[in-house]
Amino acid sequence: MPTIFDLPSSDRAAFPVPEYNVADHEPLPDELLSFDDVLPNISEREVVRHYTALSQKNYSVDTHMYPLGSCTMKYNPKLNERIASFGGFTQLHPLTRADHAQGALEILWELSSMLSEITGMKEFSLAPAAGAHGELAGVMIIKKFFEEKGEKRRIILIPDSAHGTNPASVAMCGFEVRQVPSTREGDVDIRTLERLINDNVAAMMLTNPNTLGLFEQKVIEIASLLHSKGALFYADGANLNALMGKVKVRDMGFDLMHLNLHKTFSTPHGGGGPGAGPIGVSEELTKYLPVPVVIRDGDKFFLDYERKSSIGRIHSFYGNFLICVRAYAYLKRLGASGIKTTAETAVLNANYLRARLKGAFYFPVDRPCMHEFVITDKGLPHGITTNDIAKRILDYNFHAPTVYFPIHVSGAIMIEPTETESKQSLDAFADALLSIRKECEENPELVRNAPFTTPVKRVDAVQAARKPVLTWRK
Ligand SMILES: *Cc1c(COP(=O)(O)O)cnc(C)c1O
Repeated sequence: MPTIFDLPSSDRAAFPVPEYNVADHEPLPDELLSFDDVLPNISEREVVRHYTALSQKNYSVDTHMYPLGSCTMKYNPKLNERIASFGGFTQLHPLTRADHAQGALEILWELSSMLSEITGMKEFSLAPAAGAHGELAGVMIIKKFFEEKGEKRRIILIPDSAHGTNPASVAMCGFEVRQVPSTREGDVDIRTLERLINDNVAAMMLTNPNTLGLFEQKVIEIASLLHSKGALFYADGANLNALMGKVKVRDMGFDLMHLNLHKTFSTPHGGGGPGAGPIGVSEELTKYLPVPVVIRDGDKFFLDYERKSSIGRIHSFYGNFLICVRAYAYLKRLGASGIKTTAETAVLNANYLRARLKGAFYFPVDRPCMHEFVITDKGLPHGITTNDIAKRILDYNFHAPTVYFPIHVSGAIMIEPTETESKQSLDAFADALLSIRKECEENPELVRNAPFTTPVKRVDAVQAARKPVLTWRK
């Protein structure tokens, strides 16, 4: 599609500047009267058509399947959007006195209670604005916990399969990262972990299911190893959609965790919009939660600023309120049994896809997965790579899966269908990948030079990163 500057232009204009009728005036400078050099001469109707056509080129969960592993790009019911847009929520001033905002506070309190019920954590703060922000709050809590005990612990352990935000949060709080390798089965290598744990270890951060979509089989053993040395166990809860209603995070031995409301609980994301990463803690750690925490006294709800060991404020007011409203509406509508079914369906869908792709692609770990799984480009003919597969799938009208993550698996292609896709769309996606696999043998040039049907064809990724063209020049 041509850019707006490349559209055929003549002397048309969207807004002709009227003749001015002021008697005594300095003549306006030419550059104010003529935009010929900077703006294209096209009519308003053409502008509208151009941008409407552009908007229709958007790819989203509302138009297509979006199997991006680790991100949980699922369809989110529009009802929750609608509820979050009610005037009573959107027009509520954040400085409204608590006794005039009881309904809003009740929603926040009930949401935290539901998250506690699902995870087994004693209390949640809804303040963090993203998963990474929740992690930061969590590591600050870990830091404060040991400071108050008068212990100087320097190290936080992180598996090599971890999301990049984990080591970043650790580093931002002044701890050192020690990486724990994975076994060939995709679990944390317990033997190495035993060697790494000592009195200098403050905590371990673990994602379960991990970024390979595998349930960490030794999680209880890891928890007792850490606790035997006085260290804390942090759960990265980004993958909770595989477990909710089935197992409580606290019961696996974790002491604190974050959730991603924008992955698990009905907030659309991917465009960089607002999110929420509530931080939940065990009883022992509640005094460190960021303020304010919403509390209940009888029928009344309050914002509690009086936690003497709190890590302080980490967000203005009480976080991204409307994201919390969406999550609240979602949980209320699903109920306890719906939450369980959601997790079960997410796992079933991933395993169905996995079974359909078996034999055609290489699986670095061959065991039942949770909500997502990883295949790789190992063994593909004619030097075809993960990148080629990701490009070719665009020609089949699918968004590409996550590629080259997790980073400890070479050429990873990480697929998460989510619970919201039907068997028909799962089959269509599997058929597309199987057809591409055939093309790898029969027509490798097609795969290597794809995509052909997208507005932008194959780009030179290195040049695009090194020499990005960010401005339009005539
Ligand atoms: C997405 C994700 C994060 C970071 O969450 P954001 O909300 O993007 O900041 C952390 N860990 C894992 C495993 C994730 O998938």
